[in-house]
Amino acid sequence: KRRIAVMTSGGDAPGMNGAVRAVVRMAIAQGCEAFCIYEGYEGLVQGGDMIKRTEWEDVRGYLSEGGTLIGTARCASFRERPGRMKAAKNMVIAGIDALIVCGGDGSLTGADTFRKEWPGLLEELVSKQELTAEAIKPFKYLNIVGLVGSIDNDMSMTDATIGCYSSLHRICNSVDSINDTAQSHQRAFIVEVMGRHCGWLALMAGISTGADFLFIPEQPPEKDWKKEMCSIIHEHRKRGKRVTIVIVAEGAQDQELNKITPDEIKDLLSNDLKLDTRVTTLGHVQRGGAPCAYDRMLSTLQGAEAVKAVLEAQPDTPSPIISIIENKIIRKPLLEAVELTNEVAVAIKARNFDKAMNLRDAE
Ligand code: ATP
Repeated sequence: KRRIAVMTSGGDAPGMNGAVRAVVRMAIAQGCEAFCIYEGYEGLVQGGDMIKRTEWEDVRGYLSEGGTLIGTARCASFRERPGRMKAAKNMVIAGIDALIVCGGDGSLTGADTFRKEWPGLLEELVSKQELTAEAIKPFKYLNIVGLVGSIDNDMSMTDATIGCYSSLHRICNSVDSINDTAQSHQRAFIVEVMGRHCGWLALMAGISTGADFLFIPEQPPEKDWKKEMCSIIHEHRKRGKRVTIVIVAEGAQDQELNKITPDEIKDLLSNDLKLDTRVTTLGHVQRGGAPCAYDRMLSTLQGAEAVKAVLEAQPDTPSPIISIIENKIIRKPLLEAVELTNEVAVAIKARNFDKAMNLRDAE
């Protein structure tokens, strides 16, 4: 029986539990044994109780739970070869040769490095007499499959990451609440949205809430943005709008790559437009709570596909990520997706903003 393990790594995102549930149950349905690795790579490096055989009933109720029930962590030791060596040993001891990782680009890059090093790691373990040649015989190849779990929607080659729509719902609900109080007092609110260096979540939030103005890193505002923003907001007010909402991505910057801060915008609206202006940083509420229906669907379909990808992999198949493009669940090469994603940051640094937008959208 194949033994397939699943783990969640990097920042938590709603829908990760749905992915774990789908992997466990699809693996069992396909005649395999399923394992959960607790606390991300930390669990893989520690081994023992952190790698647990998981049965169908163990993941009951996971679909509607937020966060990740099997835990996640940032693990410094997995970034170094000795850490990955311990991880390889623990996998061989547990009899696992397929790993499905639900996480961001860092976690997926780490997984692919692990796969490349795998035969060398095992040989070294034998030469150090930590494993016998006999023990490593059945473990020629390591299968890695990535599921992109992140609220940031920051991975190229997929339309949506697991968690981003749940987060968007939370942001919309929060902005609706802010709207009620803003309306009553005719206030302006600057709402800072998560996403690190990526503006997708802020962009989707701006569209979904009908914000008056929006700042995202991939498309900085025109040089005279202060004047432009004030004149647009002034115009909206002149037409009878009682409330102003400005959405700022946490990575927002101007064309000179200087950070645009919510306080800076607040000062402008307060001083130039004389609006009673407040700043709301939504923070970690954007990451918590029950996954929305879309993320339950996405994580379930992608988790099932990940198991199929493991079972169909040939020794020379590059590690895939499971994507969704134009509503179809498909496999894309993991390394290419990570490389394209990294190129966005390079394009932004070079102030090639059109390229940055295209790369975010790349299929
Ligand atoms: P998020 O987008 O939420 O931050 P992420 O997966 O990108 O998720 P990271 O903190 O970059 O988050 O990575 C999570 C873990 O993956 C790290 O703590 C480390 O253990 C492992 N990891 C990341 N990058 C590498 C790498 N290049 N090589 C080996 N392991 C890595």
